[in-house]
Amino acid sequence: MGLITKIKHSSHSEHFLLLKYPREPYECNGCRVLGLGPCYECEHEDCSFYLHEECANATPSALHSFNSKCSLRFHSRAPQRGRRFCDACGQDVLGFVYQCKYKKPHDYHPSCLKLQHTLTAGDGTRLHLRKKLPSKCLNCGSRKTSNKIEGWSYVSSCGHYCYHVACVKDMILKKWKEGYFLQDGNVNETDNYLTLQSAIPSRELELPSRKSSSKARNIWRKAKKAIMLIISALFGDPTTLISVLVQQLLSD
Ligand SMILES: [Zn+2]
Ligand SMILES: [Zn+2]
Ligand SMILES: [Zn+2]
Ligand SMILES: [Zn+2]
Ligand SMILES: [Zn+2]
Repeated sequence: MGLITKIKHSSHSEHFLLLKYPREPYECNGCRVLGLGPCYECEHEDCSFYLHEECANATPSALHSFNSKCSLRFHSRAPQRGRRFCDACGQDVLGFVYQCKYKKPHDYHPSCLKLQHTLTAGDGTRLHLRKKLPSKCLNCGSRKTSNKIEGWSYVSSCGHYCYHVACVKDMILKKWKEGYFLQDGNVNETDNYLTLQSAIPSRELELPSRKSSSKARNIWRKAKKAIMLIISALFGDPTTLISVLVQQLLSD
């Protein structure tokens, strides 16, 4: 997809939107979900209007290989009343959404429909997007997400490292709300690194101590690697912070 750097969008037709690479996370005004990667931002800074690339470029209809029978239609608001969750990432549907026509429709955020199917790290570690978990999620210890949906997950080729997309998104969202990310362009890399490191993976794997075996340390390292790959995939092109983290984690 060739990127156009200046667009008009019907959801904010009064101004032009420019393709930018913000240093801080933003809330997308289309789907209302946190974004970190490249996005369209209103040329008037006072507006603080942002759209994920995927939200700005949403097409009227779409398909996804996980549910190829569902023909999905784009809505700027879900037509139904009541709380709805994205069937991929488990987060609330509060704005732009794709839905199928079944009585109990599937819901997907535009950016979730575009999740990469395979993630590959520099050392060849691979993770695959899966509709069903082959084993429990290493973060929450369950197959279903906290919203009781069976959300998508990323799973390593060996099948041992498995994380809900929902769990990784929640983790980042919490950190964001705690003010842990960049502020005013100030990156406190050491603090951020330590905070994130202690946040992952929380329950099913114990933090290695000095007494841990080298096997336990190795498992921990692989789990960390998996989670950082997912973070960089979920939030688009790595920002300074994420790329620093990913590099540090992938190099040890
Ligand atoms: Zn969005
Ligand atoms: Zn504007
Ligand atoms: Zn989603
Ligand atoms: Zn469906
Ligand atoms: Zn989970």
